[in-house]
Amino acid sequence: MTGPRTVTVVGGGLAGLTAAIRLADAGCRVTLLESRPRLGGLTHSFRRGDLDVDNGQHVFLRCCTSYRALLERLGTAGLTELQPRLDVPVRSGRKTARLRRNSLPAPLHLGRSLASYGVLSPADRLRAVRGAMALRGVDRDDPRTDDVSFGAWLAEYGQNAATVEALWDLVGVATMNVHAGEASLAVAATVFQLGLLTDAAAGDIGWSAVPLQRLHGDAAATVLAAAGAEVRLRSRVRGLDRDGAGWIVRTDDDAIVCDAVVVATDPVQAEALLPAGALPQPANWSAGLGASPIVNVNVLVDQPVLAERFVAVVGSDVQWVFDRTRQSGLAATRPGAQLLAVSLSAADGVVDLPVAELRARLMPALASVLPTLDAATVLDFFVTREPQATFRPRPGTAALRPANRTALPGLVVAGAYTATGWPATMESAVRSGDAAAAELLSAALDPARVVAA
Ligand SMILES: Cc1cc2nc3c(=O)[nH]c(=O)nc-3n(C[C@H](O)[C@H](O)[C@H](O)COP(=O)(O)OP(=O)(O)OC[C@H]3O[C@@H](n4cnc5c(N)ncnc54)[C@H](O)[C@@H]3O)c2cc1C
Repeated sequence: MTGPRTVTVVGGGLAGLTAAIRLADAGCRVTLLESRPRLGGLTHSFRRGDLDVDNGQHVFLRCCTSYRALLERLGTAGLTELQPRLDVPVRSGRKTARLRRNSLPAPLHLGRSLASYGVLSPADRLRAVRGAMALRGVDRDDPRTDDVSFGAWLAEYGQNAATVEALWDLVGVATMNVHAGEASLAVAATVFQLGLLTDAAAGDIGWSAVPLQRLHGDAAATVLAAAGAEVRLRSRVRGLDRDGAGWIVRTDDDAIVCDAVVVATDPVQAEALLPAGALPQPANWSAGLGASPIVNVNVLVDQPVLAERFVAVVGSDVQWVFDRTRQSGLAATRPGAQLLAVSLSAADGVVDLPVAELRARLMPALASVLPTLDAATVLDFFVTREPQATFRPRPGTAALRPANRTALPGLVVAGAYTATGWPATMESAVRSGDAAAAELLSAALDPARVVAA
C-alpha cells in the first residue's frame, strides 16, 4: 500500500481517531488537531463530585464490527460488556415483557419472544411479525428507498400505533434518534436488517464498563503517541488551503504544511472548512442534514431501585433507563447507592426544559416503572444535553451525506454523518474513519509525497 507521508487529521472524535491511528499504523506522520481540551468527540465524560459522568449513555451491538475492532486496537475491548444473547426487559407500567433471542437462526431467534411480547395484544404481535418479515425484504441499497418515510411504510404494511410504539420506535428512536414518522426507510431498514433480522447474534447489546473518556479518548491518546502521531488539543482549525500538490492547515497560531488532510469534524464545521467544489453536495448540505438532540437525566438515589442493567420503557416519557453505578465509580465511593441515567433520544420536546421541569415530569414517570423509587431518597438530579447529538436521518438525506473522497487530491472527509448507510452512531464514525484512511492510502498522490507502507 502507498500513501501520503504527512497527514493532518482535523477532529478527534471516533472518526478522526480511527483515521489517525490507521494512517499512523501505515507509516504516515500524523498530526491530529482537536479544538476541545480532550479527545473522544461526542463520547466523553466529566467529573461531578466523586462521580465520572458520561455526556450520554452509549451502547453498541455485536454487529458493530468496526467499532469493536477500534476498541481492540485501543486495548479497551475488555472494558466493555456484551450480552451473550440479546435480552431487553421492556416495562409498560408495572408489567415487564422481554425482547430476547433464543438459539435459533434469524429471523426465528426472536419468534418466541415476539409471540409472548406482553406489551402488545396477540393480534398486534402477529402484526409486528408480519412487519418484520416485510422489512427484511426491503432493498436498502435502492436509492428510491431513501425517499420513503419509515412511518409511511410501516402504515402501508399494517403497523398501528401500538406496534410502532412498542417495537419500531422502541428500537428505532434509540438508534436513529428520530421517530419512525421522520425516519428514512433506507436507514431504518439498515438498522433493523443488520441489527435484528439477518444474523441472530448481531443485535446483542454491549456497553462500556468504564467512563467513555477512558474507553475512547484517553486510550486513543496513548495509542497515537505510541504510534508516533502528534496530538494537539485546544487547536481549532480555521482554514485549509491548497499548497501545490499538498495542503496548508491553519490554526490560530500555526500553519501546518502536509501532503493530505482528513476533515473529521461535525458536518457544519466540515462544510465551513472544505474549499468550494470539494463535494458534489448542494450548498448548505450540512444544514439539510439537520441535528437531533439527546438528553440524559441522571438520578442518584440512596438505594437500588433498578435490578436490571437497563430497561426500555413504553407508554411513558421515559425511554431507556441504565444503571450507571459501576461506570461512575459510585459503587466504590458510596456503596448501596445507585446512579440511573434516563436516556431520551429524539429529545426535541425536552432539550430546552429547565432541570426543575424535567424533574417534575420524569420522576413520577420513573416511579411508575420503578416501584421502589418512592421509598428512596434522591441525592442528586442532573441533566446532560447534546443538542447536536446526531444528524436527522430523514427521507432524502442520503444525497446530503458525502462520500469520504472529495474532488481535491489529498483531501478526504470522515464522520458518522458521511455516506456509510448507518445512522449517526459510533459504528458509522469508525467505518467512516477507516474508509477515509483507506482512501488516502490507496490514492495516487504526487510520488514525492508518498510513503510505501
Ligand atoms: C448523548 C449521545 C448519545 C449517543 N448514543 C449513542 C449510542 O448509544 N450508540 C452509538 O453508536 N452512538 C451514539 N451516539 C452517537 C455517537 O456518539 C456519534 O455518532 C459519534 O461519536 C460521532 O463521532 P464523529 O467522530 O463522527 O464526530 P464527533 O464526535 O462530533 O467528532 C468531531 C470532532 O471534531 C472536533 N472539531 C470540530 N471542529 C473542529 C475544528 N475546526 N478544528 C479542530 N477540531 C474540530 C470536535 O471538537 C469533535 O471532537 C450518541 C451521541 C450522543 C451525543
